[in-house]
Amino acid sequence: MECDYQFQQCTGCQSEILKKDFDNHQNNCVSIKLTCEDCQLVYRRGDATTKHTENICLREQVRKLRDETKENKRMMQELTCQLNEIDKWKSSYNTITDCINN
Ligand SMILES: [Zn+2]
Ligand SMILES: [Zn+2]
Repeated sequence: MECDYQFQQCTGCQSEILKKDFDNHQNNCVSIKLTCEDCQLVYRRGDATTKHTENICLREQVRKLRDETKENKRMMQELTCQLNEIDKWKSSYNTITDCINN
């Protein structure tokens, strides 16, 4: 049988907690780090009201989306660039064939 009066260290506040209180403590400890599933922000439970309000969560999600869009834009630009190169090449090719035909 396991002894309930062993100590276990809290991953949040690093205090030694009696094993029988450990789960209860971890569920309530303000120093426990939580990761938001929606915005992936890591915050301590005790900071939730200041560092991870609904507002901040939404803003963080928007910011992430905007970053993704930025990445997409960059790729779009690269593709457009390549297309332009092809167009340029095509038109110079046309000039050459024009010359030959004349
Ligand atoms: Zn703790
Ligand atoms: Zn969030």
